[in-house]
Amino acid sequence: MTAQIIDGKAFAATVREKVAGHVQRLKADHDITPGLAVVLVGEDPASQVYVRSKGKQTVEVGMKSVEHKLDAGTSEADLLKLIDDLNNDPEIHGILVQLPLPGHLDEDLVINSISPAKDVDGFHISNVGLLGTGQKSMVPCTPLGCLMMLRDHHGSISGMDAVVIGRSNIVGKPMAQLLLNDSCTVTIAHSRTKDLADVVRRADIVVAAVGRPEMVPGDWIKEGATVIDVGINRLDAPEKGEGKTKLVGDVHFESCAARAGAITPVPGGVGPMTIACLLANTVTACCRANGLEEPE
Ligand code: NDP
Repeated sequence: MTAQIIDGKAFAATVREKVAGHVQRLKADHDITPGLAVVLVGEDPASQVYVRSKGKQTVEVGMKSVEHKLDAGTSEADLLKLIDDLNNDPEIHGILVQLPLPGHLDEDLVINSISPAKDVDGFHISNVGLLGTGQKSMVPCTPLGCLMMLRDHHGSISGMDAVVIGRSNIVGKPMAQLLLNDSCTVTIAHSRTKDLADVVRRADIVVAAVGRPEMVPGDWIKEGATVIDVGINRLDAPEKGEGKTKLVGDVHFESCAARAGAITPVPGGVGPMTIACLLANTVTACCRANGLEEPE
């Protein structure tokens, strides 16, 4: 079998188009412009790239984008004060604090100081609890993007066996919760899982969110399974020239694509969907804040 490639880049473009349409209607019918504030502390190069990209795409769909770039040595009190100001700013509907934060800042405290209604990353403890109990919440962007691709590909995923490799709070756990909410039979695997290969071989859906380059080989994949590769790993690529690098996922693409029914590539799979979902969450937050019907 040769897998169908799930084109996250193209899918993300359709999501952004829908978001842009909603933004236009909010402006025209209600004189409201959704606003997203991104807070970056320090100079982590990968985070700087993400923040730039988020800001650019926010403006492209017609929303207001505000970036707060703070010094790596910013005190917790100053960061919390900024978040409090953004919580109280009626023009800001979504707040994202780019992770990871420098070590002297308490990530849980900072995330939980964001108003849950503006927590477009879905990491606030209230949103985690709401998602866990199947209530209306803000859903973390990366798992949401994965779920959207799965629903789009399969229609319904009810009753399917799903294995999520990775149990982080930002990807693995919310992903498993979303799959459970959609009535999959879910296994969460992690670094202590015994016989990971056997666990993965049972799965109709495999979501790999580990952070280990090409860790999942093709012979772990059940014939016809759907593989969602969340991993983003940068490797040296001397074959492309001196000092060049390339991005690879957590699954070995060629061998997995030879057995899977469908697979997301890296790059061009989960990554673009993550930012598209952030924009969609901001519009949702804006509609909720104004008592308006929210997009599907
Ligand atoms: P974390 O490092 O927080 O979590 C990794 C998880 O993988 C942990 O639960 C860990 O288990 C598990 N793990 C590590 N080694 C193994 C192993 N040998 N076998 C099985 N499980 C293992 O990573 P994140 O969840 O933050 O990110 C995962 C990947 O997704 C990264 O490559 C990251 O760059 C990427 N990512 C991509 C995004 C996108 O937009 N596409 C967004 C966010 C992340 P344990 O808990 O036991 O330690």
